Amino acid sequence: MIAQPTASHFVDGAFVEDAEGAPFDVIFPGTGEVIARLHAATPAVIEAALASAERAQRDWAARKPVERGRVLLRAAALLRDRNRDLSELETLDTGKPLQETLVADAASGADALEYFGGLAATVTGEAIPLGGDFVYTIREPLGVCVGIGAWNYPTQIACWKSAPALAFGNALVFKPSEVTPLATLKLAEIFIEAGLPPGLFNVVNGMGPVGAALVTDRRVAKVSLTGSVPTGRRVYAAAAEGMRQVTMELGGKSPLIVFDDADLDSAVSGAMLGNFYSAGQVCSNGTRVFVQKGIRDRFLDRLAARTAAIRLGDPRDEATQMGPLVSAAQLDKVLAHVEGAKAEGARLVTGGARAAVNSGFFMQPTVFADVTDDMTLAREEVFGPVMAVLDFTDEAEVIARANATEFGLAAGVFTADLARAHRVVAQLQAGTCWINAYNLTPVEAPFGGVKMSGIGRENSRAAVEHWTHVKSVYVGTGPVEAPY
Ligand code: NDP
Repeated sequence: MIAQPTASHFVDGAFVEDAEGAPFDVIFPGTGEVIARLHAATPAVIEAALASAERAQRDWAARKPVERGRVLLRAAALLRDRNRDLSELETLDTGKPLQETLVADAASGADALEYFGGLAATVTGEAIPLGGDFVYTIREPLGVCVGIGAWNYPTQIACWKSAPALAFGNALVFKPSEVTPLATLKLAEIFIEAGLPPGLFNVVNGMGPVGAALVTDRRVAKVSLTGSVPTGRRVYAAAAEGMRQVTMELGGKSPLIVFDDADLDSAVSGAMLGNFYSAGQVCSNGTRVFVQKGIRDRFLDRLAARTAAIRLGDPRDEATQMGPLVSAAQLDKVLAHVEGAKAEGARLVTGGARAAVNSGFFMQPTVFADVTDDMTLAREEVFGPVMAVLDFTDEAEVIARANATEFGLAAGVFTADLARAHRVVAQLQAGTCWINAYNLTPVEAPFGGVKMSGIGRENSRAAVEHWTHVKSVYVGTGPVEAPY
């Protein structure tokens, strides 16, 4: 068990175990071997986590914001110092290649801690003059919040939620995906080392029911979920019972539109990054690649050649460009999508099969052409390295087809005509759009979806709205007039 943590949970500043909880194995997707064995949180562990969060939050909220920010900045520095170890653990947890985890996971988590650590002291209210009387507003923390994460970016998701939550005076109880429970325990240790008081960032591991128990607890003021649309619907409904605030970062089927005049290699690079990074397990991926007919054949030729050259291999090898999928179940799901696409008449350009590497859950990077809007491949989220290329003729047509989906997470446009680029993105129904780029999500920019892809925004100043509430204080300066 090469990655066994001290215990399954981290509560009130210390590792906690309760062997009564259902056991579950953590598997390294690169080989299929068991690397750790954990127990799901029992009601006693969940209670301890919520009680300590409630206790710790009051004092934390009373601290000066600049002090809270300082703790986050120290945590960010520790993440950066230990980037190599944390990346190796993230690679074991998720199967993502070290080439990616070394630059994308702890590093983007540290970005979030730095951003919100710096922002903490700038969040103020306003004064509203009323000609004598006046109102002032205070931005207050929400209280005890719950974060629930998906398995594709465990460290980043935990940081994107904990950084604003803690910066603005909340406590967070976090449940990672049961598939990737290890990295967040390390983050909890780092927070304590950085000086965060115990109880403010608790990690409880386990399956869906652990998340469900957290979401319905009376002490919880807000739930922030990163996950699929079906889970989002369930969690949102459960949170609504208690009138809790929510942020929902859910799935997508995002369009990436390539016009005839686009720079060919940049467009191919964008489409590859937007379908093959993290073996395609990225929510904002541009999985419907609409290519204008004039550039289509050249695009497909270049794409096929570059895709076939992707280096698959052991994700612990820094030369590896693509690792396995996160689990055997995910691999089966993706392979079933491939078979379905073939049966529905899509043309397989390259890939399309399981790849034999170290008995891991590897899949060849796959491209389908001649995909039409009605095919399952163009409608459902696959969450694997499978790109669907669709043809289009003109601008109005592609905008209508790009928007004809229940999702609205992201969209991209490649063109040399910037007037057209702005005109098109203005009409695309998506929370994030890229022009001549794809899948860049800096902490400075708001991130989140419209339609079924979610509600609320993470990152940027927009997160202030979602991790605080505003209190209005009316101040009377004269005698009170009453009609009685
Ligand atoms: P799931 O929706 O299956 O799970 C997400 C989390 O919710 C997991 O921790 C899961 O626990 C937990 N959960 C499941 N049921 C409940 C419940 N009833 N109450 C509370 N919590 C519950 O997503 P995946 O982990 O499979 O991740 C993939 C999905 O996440 C994709 O759809 C992807 O698009 C989306 N995603 C969205 C992002 C965004 O920012 N918009 C970013 C990354 C991914 P457990 O795993 O233990 O069952």
